[in-house]
Amino acid sequence: MEDESIEGKSPSLSSNVKGGCTVEECQGMIKTSLRNPMVKFLREHLEKSGCNVADNFFEAIKCDEGVGGGYLRGDGIKVCSNGVKLQNEVDQVLIHELIHVYDDCRAVNLDWENCAHHACSEIRANHLSGDCHYKRELLRGSMKIRGHEQECVRRRALMSVRNNPNCSKTAAKEAMDAVWDVCYNDTKPFDRAP
Ligand SMILES: [Zn+2]
Repeated sequence: MEDESIEGKSPSLSSNVKGGCTVEECQGMIKTSLRNPMVKFLREHLEKSGCNVADNFFEAIKCDEGVGGGYLRGDGIKVCSNGVKLQNEVDQVLIHELIHVYDDCRAVNLDWENCAHHACSEIRANHLSGDCHYKRELLRGSMKIRGHEQECVRRRALMSVRNNPNCSKTAAKEAMDAVWDVCYNDTKPFDRAP
C-alpha cells in the first residue's frame, strides 16, 4: 500500500506496510526505535533547535487501514499499530515523521496548508528517511538505482500532497516540480542523504 492519507491538518501520514500489531506491542517497538541512531540524531538536532521532543511525543494508536503513522502539530507523532508489523517499519515511520517535525521546528512560517511547503517536507522526509532504500535493495540489479530512488521519492511525496485537502492534483504536481531541486538537495540536519 502506497497511499498516504490525511486527516484534518496533519501534514503527513506515511504508509508502506502491511500487517499489524497490537497497540501494546507497537508501543514497545517505539521504545526500541528511540534507540535507533537516526532517531537519536534527529531528536538531538531538534533539541539543539529548541524543539525538544520527549518520549511521550511518540504514541501507538489504532488507525484507519493503509496508514503507517503521522505527525500533527501540537499532537506529536502517532504510529499506527495496525499499519506496522516489523521493528524496521516503526523505525521508518519515526524517522520520516521526525523530519516533518524538524521542518516544522526550523521554519517558523511553515504552513502545512500550503502545497509547496507540504511538498518540500514530503520530498525531504521520503528522501532522507530512506523510505525508498528498502525497495531499492529489493530491486537492485533490475533497475537503474539512482533513477528509481528519485522516482520513488517523487511518487510517495506526490501521493501525500494530493491527499492534502488544500491541494488539487494539478496544484500538487506543480508544487512538487517547483520545489523539487531545492528540497531534494536540502539534507539538513544531515550532511548528506543517509
Ligand atoms: Zn510524510
